[in-house]
Amino acid sequence: MEHYKFNQNKKCEYFPCHKIENPEENFSCMFCYCPLYMLGRECGGNFKYTESGIKDCSNCVLPHLKETSYKHIMSKIKLVIEKTREKK
Ligand code: SF4
Repeated sequence: MEHYKFNQNKKCEYFPCHKIENPEENFSCMFCYCPLYMLGRECGGNFKYTESGIKDCSNCVLPHLKETSYKHIMSKIKLVIEKTREKK
């Protein structure tokens, strides 16, 4: 795996902030604040909405899996760019 696709911060007070198997080996901190949050229901992750309409990602590990997170985030990043593009 290319190094730019993965990093870890084991000194973080919250590491690992989500439960996955073998986090010492597999937990990626690269997308700590998920860049897909703004996509709402289109992010592809395991979210739910609270009764007050807040998107809750507590059960989603998609941005934290070493082998797949980078590929998934990149597969959606054009949608993020499109949604934030300034319309002329
Ligand atoms: S953490 Fe998961 S559910 Fe939340 S925005 Fe990112 S991909 Fe979607």
